[in-house]
Amino acid sequence: MSESSLKEQVKQMYQMILDAKHPTVLTGAGISVSSHIPDMEMMTNVFGVFESTTLENHPDTFWSEFHKDFVDPIFKYGPNKSHRVLAKLEQNGHLDGIVTTNVDYLHNIAGNTNVMPIWSDLNTNHCINCGRIFDINRLKDAIPRCQNCNGVLSPDPVFRHIATLPDEVRRANQIMQNSDLTIVIGSNGYYSQTSNQHVININPKPNTFDQRSDLILRHSSDAVFTELEQML
Ligand SMILES: [Zn+2]
Repeated sequence: MSESSLKEQVKQMYQMILDAKHPTVLTGAGISVSSHIPDMEMMTNVFGVFESTTLENHPDTFWSEFHKDFVDPIFKYGPNKSHRVLAKLEQNGHLDGIVTTNVDYLHNIAGNTNVMPIWSDLNTNHCINCGRIFDINRLKDAIPRCQNCNGVLSPDPVFRHIATLPDEVRRANQIMQNSDLTIVIGSNGYYSQTSNQHVININPKPNTFDQRSDLILRHSSDAVFTELEQML
């Protein structure tokens, strides 16, 4: 696809955003690829490697692997172009909220304030002894521990075995019902509700959202949002 056609598509996308009263965004692993965050398949592999007792008995093994795969890229690369432009859209009043299956917390770090992480995120970490909860900054330690009782911390998505959070799903369903435009970005369809009026799908490859989409952009999200940023 030529560059001019990408530009034309992004122009059309921006017009749809401007025309919408309640634009929403649904993101999946695809948006975080350029921040070097692995997708859920990788997360599942991490679960596969560890017995449920590994965290308790060998916190060093668990945390060195978890740091390498998930935590280090968050602090090293941070939010990418797509995350940052979505934050700008919210600041400009063009985004009601983001529903995400990502656990990386990068939308929040970028500055979005209404994010629904239906599989929880790495900003919630439980002490396996006393249950106290600590935010993502505690994960900078090699083996994050509770400041209260020195127990090892367990990241919420791991702790819950990536079960969905009912409250976040309820909020997500509500915002989607009320939305007249959903921009789907790099989603694998683990969460599938969108606006029932208009849908834009950004994904390099065909996926389950194509059929209901008014506009399909077969590009990386960073390519699309680099273009969009110039129009804001
Ligand atoms: Zn504790």
